[in-house]
Amino acid sequence: MEHFTKVTPGTQVSLQDHDPRFRDGLRKNDDVVRERREAALEEMRVLQERLYAEGRQSLLIVLQATDTGGKDGTIKHVMRGLNPSGVCVTGFKQPTAKELGHDFLWRVHKRTPERGMIAVFNRSHYEDVLVVRVRKLAPKRIWERRYEHINAFEELLTECDTRILKFFLHISKDEQKERLQRRIDDPARHWKFDEGDLYDRRHWDNYVEAYEEMLTRCSTGVAPWYIIPADRKWFRNLIVAEIVTAALREMDPQYPEPHFDPKEMTIP
Ligand code: AMP
Ligand code: MG
Repeated sequence: MEHFTKVTPGTQVSLQDHDPRFRDGLRKNDDVVRERREAALEEMRVLQERLYAEGRQSLLIVLQATDTGGKDGTIKHVMRGLNPSGVCVTGFKQPTAKELGHDFLWRVHKRTPERGMIAVFNRSHYEDVLVVRVRKLAPKRIWERRYEHINAFEELLTECDTRILKFFLHISKDEQKERLQRRIDDPARHWKFDEGDLYDRRHWDNYVEAYEEMLTRCSTGVAPWYIIPADRKWFRNLIVAEIVTAALREMDPQYPEPHFDPKEMTIP
């Protein structure tokens, strides 16, 4: 499953080579899709419980995608079985004046997961080499240096027992058009519509270039990028759930040894 999504460090990524509609021969209503998804979510639930109890390692999940790419939907569907006490979701919006008064990682570092926790980033420090680059919010000499800063930052987190998974949800320009149109047509979705999204859509090709550089330069051994075919929401959810579960399995969290002898203990 991993071979078609994980970006091997050092490879030059071209998004053209990745089909956003890929579904690995599966169909939405296949029993096997439901079974694989539910099995992954159930195992994720059990492993999270142990991660929380163990309190020694943490997991950081980064979600990046264009508008309508499915960041919110992924969080809603993939994290649904988890114990909310052990999860912290942060959405990164336009930085406030205070945040802009610091280096770009300041606001991000504050939201990284402490031991035992799973943190989910809906957008992240990568905005600082994406929207900032495309909208020219900072000069090239500033954002150009950030790839290295990001790799060093992620290495630091890893050294402190944070496992990092980064998902780029890859949708096609046609699919985005449909999803934006739904936000205009459906009153229940009006709140999600932002005219700024149309600006970003007009600069689609600049974003592709920025995404490709991010994926190429910041997929590292400790913090790989996964390119998720995301035109089909059910396939996106299945693959993300399976990758998160596989990572937790590898982290192999254990219940801590009891600090008392259960055989000696009687409740008065
Ligand atoms: P949304 O995720 O749709 O609620 O929108 C959040 C908006 O904040 C998006 O347009 C992002 O591109 C923007 N944003 C997030 N981080 C930054 C950043 N560091 N600098 C500028 N804009 C940002
Ligand atoms: Mg938006």
